[in-house]
Parts: sequence; structure tokens; C-alpha cells
Amino acid sequence: MADLADIAQAHIETVAAVAVKNVSAKVYTGKSSLYCCECGEPIPEARREAAPYCSLCLDCQQLEELKNVGRGRKMNV
Ligand SMILES: [Zn+2]
Repeated sequence: MADLADIAQAHIETVAAVAVKNVSAKVYTGKSSLYCCECGEPIPEARREAAPYCSLCLDCQQLEELKNVGRGRKMNV
């Protein structure tokens, strides 16, 4: 069973790997991230076109905005 340190380390490794992919991708696209900065999944082209400069996939963006609603911020999806 993984403890919190293992889960945190796995998340850090995922975020770092996605950051490297996105840095490489931005050299070519100059806009949105090709991979979600939260989960590492590819961001569909339709989302990248609809939301230029996005860094999260739709699912992660919605989760992030739900967290923000609880903090009194508005949604942008
Ligand atoms: Zn995501």
C-alpha cells in the first residue's frame, strides 16, 4: 500500500515529466500545453483551440474550478 509520500513523489514525477513535454511542445505550438499539467493526459486539439493558452484538460479544469467555487471564485469553463 502506497503511503502519502509515495503518492506525492509519483505526482511530482508526473508533473515534472509533463512540464518537460510541454516545454518541448510550446516550442512548436507557442500557445496551449499539449499535455495536462495536472494529470499528464493529452489535451484535445479542440480544447486547445477553444481555450488558447490552457494548461489543463477539461476534466482537470472543471475540478480546479469546483475547488475555486468553494473558495469564492467564479468558474471560467
Ligand atoms: Zn487533466
